[in-house]
Amino acid sequence: MTIPNALTVDVEDYFHVAALALNIRRDSWTSRESRVVGNTQRLLAIFEQFDVCGTFFVLGWVAERYPQLVRDIAARGHEVACHGYSHRLVYEQSPKEFHEETLRSKNLLEDIIGSAVFGYRAASYSIVRESLWALDILVELGFVYDSSIFPVHHDRYGIPDAERVPHRMATPNGKSIVEWPLATARILGFRFPVAGGGYFRLLPYWLSCWGLASINRNDRQPFIFYLHPWEIDPAQPRVSASWLSQFRHYTNLGKCEERLRRLLGEFQFGTARDALKQLGLLSGQCPKEC
Ligand SMILES: [Zn+2]
Repeated sequence: MTIPNALTVDVEDYFHVAALALNIRRDSWTSRESRVVGNTQRLLAIFEQFDVCGTFFVLGWVAERYPQLVRDIAARGHEVACHGYSHRLVYEQSPKEFHEETLRSKNLLEDIIGSAVFGYRAASYSIVRESLWALDILVELGFVYDSSIFPVHHDRYGIPDAERVPHRMATPNGKSIVEWPLATARILGFRFPVAGGGYFRLLPYWLSCWGLASINRNDRQPFIFYLHPWEIDPAQPRVSASWLSQFRHYTNLGKCEERLRRLLGEFQFGTARDALKQLGLLSGQCPKEC
């Protein structure tokens, strides 16, 4: 039996992204045009066309304002998971702040869907070497798996020598949690990020596809792929920012939906939780309903 790859969506609006954070004040969020509901509904419709379920890491700020969206996601058979509350980077928070906002978001999501949330993904993959303490807080709060570690070099995130495949890892305080690092392909001894998002928009489609296929073929492992609802929305309001931030955020927004459809036709996908269960990584560690 082939283990499906994990299809994941980080449910947030275009004004939440870390790349534009210097140009968008937090206190302006509520006055901006929100497009997260419409864009997420479009993703839900596309997934339905391909008869595929995925994992939606929902930002607490979004869940609080649009609880019906979270109910819709769950009602269509997708996994609801947690993307924190405020989209502040983990390494810019104190452990106490992280504990409070993560618990707030988990409680919100669980109250909305009426069942437990098992998965967590940090804003902008901000569990790095200096913020590994966050994993102990995730265990304490009842999370079963995390997907926040990007095993690459990047200016804002990354643990370049972290393990590349799903595994159970030790936390700094001697506990353990399942970690599913964002997808990287190995080319000539180098790691190449092919996990989705900006990489999926910036790289030629064939290269993403080849890299992802190599994880299934050479590593004999499923990969985890991510996208944001705003990445299929070329009509979103434009924000002025640095050249690099604009390049990362706006390049190929108009091509993303078509590429996603191709990808969904070429690979097998499912939820992160189901894939981890099939890998045997959740057995014995999971509450009954997981
Ligand atoms: Zn995010």
